[in-house]
Amino acid sequence: MDYLIEKFAQLGAIKKGHFLLSSGKHSDTYIQCAKIFEYPLEAQNIVNILAQKLYGQKVDTVIGPAIGGITVAYEMARALGVRAIFAEREKGIFTLRRGFEIKEKEKLLVVEDVITTGGSAREVIDLVRNLNGEVIGVASLVDRSKEKDIFDLPFYSLVKIDLEIYEEEDCPLCKIGIPYVKPGSRELKK
Ligand SMILES: [Zn+2]
Repeated sequence: MDYLIEKFAQLGAIKKGHFLLSSGKHSDTYIQCAKIFEYPLEAQNIVNILAQKLYGQKVDTVIGPAIGGITVAYEMARALGVRAIFAEREKGIFTLRRGFEIKEKEKLLVVEDVITTGGSAREVIDLVRNLNGEVIGVASLVDRSKEKDIFDLPFYSLVKIDLEIYEEEDCPLCKIGIPYVKPGSRELKK
């Protein structure tokens, strides 16, 4: 796990510091899993480790919510030797497009890059169940959820991260005068 956190940091998927998030809040950690998939061989190795946690589980298809879940689902399906599909929002609701289908009783694994509240994953679980598929579990590269037993299903994750999010006025990093960076905008200037 420490090795993996180091690996994620090396790839720029986890950054420590003082960040202004798009929500306007401040944080001591920034997570961007897309950085892992910049390097397909690294991504393949990382997702393989997550796939090993599912050893012995029967999975027919892996499904991820767009956009973050697409590449994770693809790599996970490769690791498990099964089919990969993704769900995307249409008028705000997750749906299957592009000719993707789920057969009755088919066993699906829902995957995500990061689980925070589990909202998107839960919507995809509902989508699968509405199509009479069976969700056998949820897998995520990063688990930054605060609750225990976030899903009513087995939950597999590679890296558990506790990160603090602050309102600007309560931010201890601001209080000690550390300048913040806005992830993304800083990258553009490089
Ligand atoms: Zn701050």
